Amino acid sequence: MTPASGGYPHSYYADSVDLPPRRAALEGSQEADICIVGAGFSGLAAGLFLRERGYRVILLEGERVGWGASGRNGGQLINGFNGGIDFLHDYFSDCGTSVAELHLAGGDILREVTERHRIDCDYRPGHVTVAYTQKHMQGLAEEAKLCQRHDIPGYQLLDKDQLQEYVGSGVYAGGLLDGRGGHIR
Ligand SMILES: Cc1cc2nc3c(=O)[nH]c(=O)nc-3n(C[C@H](O)[C@H](O)[C@H](O)COP(=O)(O)OP(=O)(O)OC[C@H]3O[C@@H](n4cnc5c(N)ncnc54)[C@H](O)[C@@H]3O)c2cc1C
Repeated sequence: MTPASGGYPHSYYADSVDLPPRRAALEGSQEADICIVGAGFSGLAAGLFLRERGYRVILLEGERVGWGASGRNGGQLINGFNGGIDFLHDYFSDCGTSVAELHLAGGDILREVTERHRIDCDYRPGHVTVAYTQKHMQGLAEEAKLCQRHDIPGYQLLDKDQLQEYVGSGVYAGGLLDGRGGHIR
């Protein structure tokens, strides 16, 4: 992949914004309470939250801020867990946190931080999982019931016509809308 201007690889993001100037290289020795290596989402979030708690933080990045996976991803906010909701419920049943809270925490943090810091990321709420077949639709209906059973709000089953209003296509059997999912740019 050839580098775009400013040292980022070509991506929708790098090619569609005015890139900020490069930051200066670290010179000499510096002191901090915490040094974080890597300015992707993980390092940036850790740095931000630690700084808000009063720590002196140095964040080191070998390339550019957001150069790694964070600057190349699809921007989709999709709630859910690989292990499934029931697994998570059983696993965390002793720690006093509901599976609904865990399920939605990431998205809530993203909305709260982008609003508080006025981050211009064009957040669009809503994520739809579409079904090609009735069998797939039954699977989505079961998922919707599971969310209801665990008091996870924001999910709505859509039939073929309702889904068409969202996606502009009639090829799908229906879908499951997650109103707490979304997309950022
Ligand atoms: C193609 C793609 C699409 C994706 N789509 C989505 C999506 O739609 N939604 C979603 O939630 N997630 C998505 N992901 C996953 C998400 O982007 C990653 O989980 C997330 O960006 C990881 O962030 P990170 O900060 O841990 O790592 P990175 O963003 O990779 O950051 C690591 C940083 O550390 C720096 N670094 C590494 N070693 C050193 C060193 N020794 N010294 C100095 N700096 C160093 C790197 O240069 C880099 O900038 C996607 C990922 C990819 C690759």
